[in-house]
Amino acid sequence: SVRVRFAPSPTGQLHIGGVRTALFNYLYARHTGGQFILRLEDTDVDRNVAGVEQGFVEAFRWLGLTWDEGFDIGGPYGPYRCSERAGIYRDYAQKLLESGMAYACFCLQEEAKADRPEEDADEDPGPGLGACAGACSSLHPAEALQRVRAGEPHAIRFRVPSGPPIVVQDIVRGEIAFAREDLRDFVILKRDGMPTYNFQVAVDDHLMAITHVIRGEEHLSNTPRQLLIYEAFGWRPPQFAHLPVVLDESRKKLSKRDPNVLPVSAYREQGYVPQALVNFLALLGWSPGGEDEIFSLEELCARFDLDRVGRAGAVFDVAKFRWMANQYFKSLDPKAAVRLIREQAAHLNYSFPPHVDDDWLERAVVLVQDGLACAREFFTAARVWLEPGVTYDEEARALLATEGAARVVRAYLLACEEDPSWDEAANRARFQAVVRALGVKGRDLYMPVRAAVTGQTHGPDLQKSMALLPRETAMERMRRALA
Ligand code: GLU
Repeated sequence: SVRVRFAPSPTGQLHIGGVRTALFNYLYARHTGGQFILRLEDTDVDRNVAGVEQGFVEAFRWLGLTWDEGFDIGGPYGPYRCSERAGIYRDYAQKLLESGMAYACFCLQEEAKADRPEEDADEDPGPGLGACAGACSSLHPAEALQRVRAGEPHAIRFRVPSGPPIVVQDIVRGEIAFAREDLRDFVILKRDGMPTYNFQVAVDDHLMAITHVIRGEEHLSNTPRQLLIYEAFGWRPPQFAHLPVVLDESRKKLSKRDPNVLPVSAYREQGYVPQALVNFLALLGWSPGGEDEIFSLEELCARFDLDRVGRAGAVFDVAKFRWMANQYFKSLDPKAAVRLIREQAAHLNYSFPPHVDDDWLERAVVLVQDGLACAREFFTAARVWLEPGVTYDEEARALLATEGAARVVRAYLLACEEDPSWDEAANRARFQAVVRALGVKGRDLYMPVRAAVTGQTHGPDLQKSMALLPRETAMERMRRALA
């Protein structure tokens, strides 16, 4: 059966591209009834950032993804934390060394950087190829062995055999040929005894019986080196599917520093509905065909397949994400929205004013929910009900400067002073009283009061809106507007 893996390196926060890769693996596993494995590639010891893997686990849980084997839960092919597999890589490197398919390299300038995944290579070019002038490859094995035994520091390099081009059969990209001459002998075991990425990943994918390697396109150029390892051991390689790069709106490769695109934890922190992010990411490089764009996780599992993954770069369209997030936020049950808002307040260290309780939040959120993409936006949308002061926009100011409007506000204020009851029904009744007293109606009636109390000439249902304010605050604002 299908076995796929997501194999992050714990070098930093989980970003959009990484989650998209994880999601596609997950969807493929669930679609085919296979297994999804979470493997932690932490052998590049000096780049590991302590504790980030806990963040990966939390992010996936938040998104609703589940895995069958992993570095946190174990499983029959473990350990799944590569640093705990160092002995395995050493044994396999030793086999290649013994058969002459690899050799000890004593050149001191070789370093791991050149053998890091290509993705990292663009960010940290390092000192160029960890080149070996070639002397080590032609050392007599007995001499090399002697130097190794004498304790001389050395790496182990794979000897790229000559032969026909290496052909990657990629499910997404078709056939891609790589000339062997372009792949110089590469390090498989570093001087510290840890494997390089290309070696580790081939050994692990084989030993963990991975059937499909689904990963970012930036790894395509690593694939021929991995195929050479399979070839050297006589292993059957998995199938490969390299996912299109994620681009920003100017069609450049999405940068981790793009302010529009956040690490996954930040979406959670701002109170987005996780399924909105899942839905959005599923469409980044995959299309179900047809017009529909809103899919639950179950629907995605049912529909996802690798044959509808495109080759073209997938643009992270910020407006579309907002649209998607809004679709999910506005259809939340108000109580669920209130929970997200409460979490948000805790996260922001914000304490609500005394007139706010859960019932209040529920009444407030339904008034603004249609316009929100995440819980954080509630605090801006609800500002007029949360803060004592109000800012008058230009239209409101202009309206309130007219005598007609001032007359209405005065009458309404008077009605408030006469009757201390303060809720939606009482506010409605007061409007009727003003109608009887002044003979105005429609917008001439509501708009001045709205402008005086909210500072704006438009907004949600006025009686409901006013009822969210403490009576004193609303009256204070009317007085100020008349002053
Ligand atoms: N650890 C690699 C990365 O984070 C995994 C690449 C792969 O899936 O082979 O990019």
